[in-house]
Order: sequence, then structure tokens, then C-alpha cells
Amino acid sequence: DFRVRYAPSPTGYLHIGNARTALFNWLFARHYNGTFVIRIEDTDAARNIADGEKSQLDNLKWLGLDWDESPENPGEYGPYRQSERNEQGIYQPYIDDLLKRGLAYKSYKTSEQLKAEREAQQAAKQAPHYVYEYEGMSQEEREAEYAKYEAQGLKPVVRIRVPEEKVYEWDDIVKGHISIGGKEVGGDWVIQKADGMPTYNFAVVVDDHLMKISHVLRGDDHVSNTPKQMMVYDAFGWDIPKFGHMALIINAATGKKLSKRDNDVLQFVEQYRELGYQPEALDNFIGLLGWSPKGEDEIFSLEEFKNMFDEHRLSKANAKFDQKKLEWINNQWIRREKDKIMPQLIDELVKAGFITEDEAKAKHDWLVQAIDVAGVDGISYTRQIVDLMREPFFQLGEITDEMTDYLTSEAGQKVLAAWNDAYRALPDDTDADTYMKTIRAIQNDLEIKGRDLWNPIRIATTHQIQGPNLPELLVLLDKEEVLKTMDDVIA
Ligand code: GLU
Repeated sequence: DFRVRYAPSPTGYLHIGNARTALFNWLFARHYNGTFVIRIEDTDAARNIADGEKSQLDNLKWLGLDWDESPENPGEYGPYRQSERNEQGIYQPYIDDLLKRGLAYKSYKTSEQLKAEREAQQAAKQAPHYVYEYEGMSQEEREAEYAKYEAQGLKPVVRIRVPEEKVYEWDDIVKGHISIGGKEVGGDWVIQKADGMPTYNFAVVVDDHLMKISHVLRGDDHVSNTPKQMMVYDAFGWDIPKFGHMALIINAATGKKLSKRDNDVLQFVEQYRELGYQPEALDNFIGLLGWSPKGEDEIFSLEEFKNMFDEHRLSKANAKFDQKKLEWINNQWIRREKDKIMPQLIDELVKAGFITEDEAKAKHDWLVQAIDVAGVDGISYTRQIVDLMREPFFQLGEITDEMTDYLTSEAGQKVLAAWNDAYRALPDDTDADTYMKTIRAIQNDLEIKGRDLWNPIRIATTHQIQGPNLPELLVLLDKEEVLKTMDDVIA
């Protein structure tokens, strides 16, 4: 009975790296018919942002993920927010128990003392390491010390006594065997802060245990936390879940660890959503960050990922975050799901102010064709349809010097005269084929071809030097408007 969880801290919006953790826990749960739990780790009140939780969950839903237990649909292990669990006093008995058994202690050192300690270690070229202040004392002697500090009005933190001689080892689902010595964690660490809040590394263990989590799949950055968490499991004699730490995500452009400060790439799901990326494409991209299927295919739906999921194919090697690849994948999804995203494309044109909603409804069939002719197959995300459609469907551009040269050249003048006559003679509902034949006839008559033939016609009718397939475009343009445009340049 697999139980996995995604445990976001609401300190920001949904980052690609967190979305990956959520996606893979979801895949794991759904593939094995397990349970997917969402727990909000909001014990660091100062770092939480107001809409962090809501926006993260909204974006996960937008990606098509769902969950079996969470703050909004609690199961039997609630509450599902750590702040509420703390208010309900869930953690305190466990902290008291460790204090009573001498496995944890209260520490009253001030930040100045801690700083001085670190500086002394640095000066002595020692690794930073917490110095235990009650060495050789019995429990009673320690408690007598506490009383002295309390009398001075000092507030303690609670630290766990680290078993430094122990070695923490586990078979990581992703990385294989890992072994970290107790000495490497940097000494006794805080399990409860002075304000009474448990710290992440402590609360996560109590919660994963109480919530019966069987597998913990999370980012590579948590490897160094795992020994700390294992010593808490040991202290209570609890079973340790299976851990898997997913490959580090690196920025393909710099080759370095992807950092929130890298501003050459968009890193938040929200940003892609705003530009009109498809959730299917993000899932597809994220699902290949540190995981690969058999074979060469690269386009997969969530459903396909779910069926294929195999934790043994999670990769040890760094995962490259390549925004170009995401653009390519999104383009593939736009081509696949064109009908589904058509309302979104039209909405972009409404938002750009090219057309009102009512007009869009009235001209729906025309819009669908225009979007196609404009080259929707080439865009990476829906917002790009705006630039693609502006000219010549909604606004005419300026005539540049280069365009004027084409219009006024000898060949241009001949072509325009012939085109003007031919175009006027054609009925309003002329099809693309006939426009093509008409232009070919001018080519044969005048023995002018290529750019010298096409550019003057395109410029005269659309003010563009490059653009969509001209015969198909002419079918979509309003003949009266085109005639006006032509009069302007031919006069
Ligand atoms: N709240 C932690 C984070 O956001 C969760 C880590 C874990 O999955 O244990 O990184």
C-alpha cells in the first residue's frame, strides 16, 4: 500500500523543480494505485507568502494533477498543514519525549555566542560544527542549567544529540547506495525553534511517520537532510520510508545548477501558463527532466507517462533544463491539439484588442482559417499568434524603402499593372487555386518570376514583404479593403 506525498513550502510560486517533484510523486502513486498526499510545510512563517499555497495548488491542478488527501480534501491523517498540526500540539509530545530520554536538549546560546563559535572554528580551519555545551553533565545537572537560563529570561531552542559515530546508509531509489557519516551533519541541530515551531527536518519525520508515507521522492538538494531525518526515525524506533532523490536540474545554457536567479530562462509554471503554454506540454517536458522512457519518442501525455512509469528509469545524471526544448514540445502539442486550443488562440486576439468577443463569435470560421494560414503550426506558445496575425489581418504595416524599390522597379510596375487588372476582374469568392493560376499567368505573360513577381503583388495587397501563402491569404482578406490598399500604393 504505497503512500507518497508532495510537501511544498508556500514560500513562493510553483517552480519547475517543485512541479517535477509533484509530478513524479503523482506518477508513482497513480502507476501503483497508491495514495497521493499533499502536505503544506509552512512552519517558516517569515518566508511564507500570502497566496503561495493557493497558487501552487492551482498550478498543479492546471497541470492535470489530482490528489487523495490535502488541506482541501483531508483524509484521516489531518490536519495537512504543519502550522495547524503544531497548533494542535502534534509535535510537542515527541519533542518532550526526546528531552526526557536525553536524546535532545534545550540550548540557550545567543546568536552572538553561536557566531563567535563559528568564527573561532573558521580561524582554526575547522569545519563549522555545533559545540555541545553540557558535555559530561547528567540529566539533572543539565536541567539545573536550564533553570538558571530561564531565570535570566532566555528562551531555548531544542537540539537533537547527533550520534556522530553512526553511519547513515540507505539504498536510494534514484542514486543507489548512499552513506553519510553522523559527523558530517555539522553537529547537534535544532528540532524546535525558540518560538515553539518544529524545524523542517524534525516535523517532516513526525508527519511522514504519522501519515504512513512509504516512499519519499524529492529533489537532490535534500540528500544532506536525509541523515538528519534518519536519526529522528531511529530515536523513535520508527520504520524509515524508502528515499529517492531526483537528479539535480541544471541550466542547459550555463551548465550550472538551475538557480532562481538565472534570468535567461522562465522557471515558474505560472509564467508559462500566462504565455499560453499547454499544460500537456509542460507535463511532457517536466516528465523528461531526470526520467526517460525506452525508445526515442519524446511526446507523451500524462496518461502515457503514468502507464510507462518505472522508478528504475529515473536518471542519476543531471537533468538539463532547456527552454528551447520546451518550446519545441509545446509546438508539437499545439499541432496535436489545435481544435482544443482554438478558443485560447482566439482569446489572445481578443485580448490584443484586434477583435471583440462578439466579432470573434460572428467570424469564427474565418478566424479558424486565418489562424491556420497565418502559420499556427510554427508557433511555440499561443501568445505568439498575436504577432503572427497583426499584419495583415488586423493592421497594415508601413511601406519600407525596400518595399518601395520593389513597387517602383520596372518589373514591379509591369507586374502591378497586370495584377491590378486581373484582381479586379476576379469575383469576390475566388479560391486559392484560381489566385495561383492568375499569378502564374502574369508570370508567363511578362516572363517575370520569383521575388520580382511575388513581392510587388504581396506588398501591394498586404504591405508585407514576407508572409503566409499569398493565394490562401487573398481568399481570407476582404476584397474591398485590399483594393483600397492597392490604390494607395499603385496611385
Ligand atoms: N518542504 C520541503 C521542500 O519544499 C519538502 C521536502 C521533502 O519532500 O521532504 O523542499
